[in-house]
Amino acid sequence: MKLMMLGAPGAGKGTVSMKLSEKLGIPQISTGDIFREEAKTNEELKKIMESGQLVPDDVVNDMVRKRLTQDDVSLGYILDGFPRTVVQAEFLDNEGIEFDHVIELDVSEDEVVKRLGSRRSCSNCKEVYNLITKPPKVEGKCDKCGGELILRDDDKEETIRKRMKEYHEKTAPLVEYYEKKGILNKVDANGTIEEVYEKSLKVVE
Ligand code: AMP
Repeated sequence: MKLMMLGAPGAGKGTVSMKLSEKLGIPQISTGDIFREEAKTNEELKKIMESGQLVPDDVVNDMVRKRLTQDDVSLGYILDGFPRTVVQAEFLDNEGIEFDHVIELDVSEDEVVKRLGSRRSCSNCKEVYNLITKPPKVEGKCDKCGGELILRDDDKEETIRKRMKEYHEKTAPLVEYYEKKGILNKVDANGTIEEVYEKSLKVVE
């Protein structure tokens, strides 16, 4: 089973794919998580991400190519945050990789801005929280592993705007790209995590 999550920043791709990954027993591959880890020791990458820009296509494609040679992908995987440009989508086609479903999480821009400012992520296990809709039991600490909860550098207001611009210019065309292939499923992502997850799971089942 190969799945792909599309959607604007804050649509819920990470949270929903994490839940789908647990349910289906296939790994979630988040290019954002991999780059955030790498950015700890790579100043240039850190700057790109903090400014809300996309990482160059050849860098991302090389990284994904390597990731997809690891053993854990043999039963399938969920791509979260990749592809984000037509060049990246064409890369997957050229590699001969076919997807069962593309799930587009469709969310309003107002909702995105509201969500991202109150988003907190565990610095250790990457679990995602929201101060309003999904607060941790103990302030600042992850329920699952006790790790410190942080506001992502790129969830600051000015960067959110830049990321939305990048999304509209470079990623939104992928909706039509996969619509034409007949594998696109639009899911209304304005509801709660549980609702959006259930709708996404229906697509797969
Ligand atoms: P995310 O966690 O998916 O929102 O990704 C965070 C940041 O990582 C993005 O704003 C980009 O700077 C970078 N990034 C993640 N995935 C990609 C991708 N497929 N192409 C280019 N840049 C990416």
